[in-house]
Amino acid sequence: MTIETILPIPDIFSAKRILCIQPHYDDNDIAAAGILTQLAQKGAEVFYLTVTNDLMGVVDSSLSDDDAAEALKRDQFAAAKIVGVKEQYWLGYPDAGEYDYFAVRRDLLKYIRMLKPDFVFTCDPWLTYEGHRDHIQTGLAASEAVMFAGLTKIASSDPKVDSAYEPHDINGIAFYFTREPNFIADISSTWEEKIGALRCYEAQFDPQGLDQLVTALDAKSQQVAQGQAFPRGEPLKVLNTSALHVGI
Ligand SMILES: [Zn+2]
Repeated sequence: MTIETILPIPDIFSAKRILCIQPHYDDNDIAAAGILTQLAQKGAEVFYLTVTNDLMGVVDSSLSDDDAAEALKRDQFAAAKIVGVKEQYWLGYPDAGEYDYFAVRRDLLKYIRMLKPDFVFTCDPWLTYEGHRDHIQTGLAASEAVMFAGLTKIASSDPKVDSAYEPHDINGIAFYFTREPNFIADISSTWEEKIGALRCYEAQFDPQGLDQLVTALDAKSQQVAQGQAFPRGEPLKVLNTSALHVGI
C-alpha cells in the first residue's frame, strides 16, 4: 500500500461547487479559466471570491477609485459570463497594501462555511520566487481556511454563519500558478473562451499588454502540454485537503 492509494489525487471533474479564491480580479482567469469553463459547462457551480480591491493595477490613473472599481467589476462580469461563473464576491482589502492576514482568513472561513464548496481553487502560496504578498497571503489563508472550515472553534468573521454551519466535506484544493503541478488540465476545447475572458480585462491592461499576456499564455499553455495527448494545458497542484499539513 502506498500513501497515494490512501490519499489519491482528488478528481477535479467530480467537483460540483467550486470556490475560486483569488488575490486580484483576473488571477483565476489567467491561471485557470480553461478548466473552470469546462467544469461550468459540465454543470458545476463556480463562485469567484476576490480578496483585494485591485486598484493599483488600473491603467487609467485619471479614474477615481469609485470609477476604477466600477471598471474592474464591469470587466470581471464580462469575463465571468464567458467562463460561466455563477456568483462573485469581493473582500476589498487594499491591493498591495497593509492588511491583517488573520482578518482575511476569518473572511475566507466565512465564505467557505457559507457556500460549502466541494473544491477550492487558489494560487499556490509556495510558488518559487513569488514576490507579490497578496498572492502569498491569499493562497495561505485559503489553505488554512480549507483545513479549518470544520473546526468551528476557529471563528469566521460572521458568527451567524458559524452557528448555522454544518461541517461538510471539501474533496480537494487545486493550486494554480504552481511550479509543482501534478495535473495538467486539457484546455484545448476551452482555449478560445479563456482568451475571450482575458480580453475583457481592459481596465488592467492596455491593448498591447493584453496582446503580450495572450502571447505568453499561448506559449505557456503549449509548453506545459508537452508529452501529453493534447496541445494545450493548465498546470495545477491538486491535493486532498488532508495533504495540506505535515506533508502526508
Ligand atoms: Zn494577482
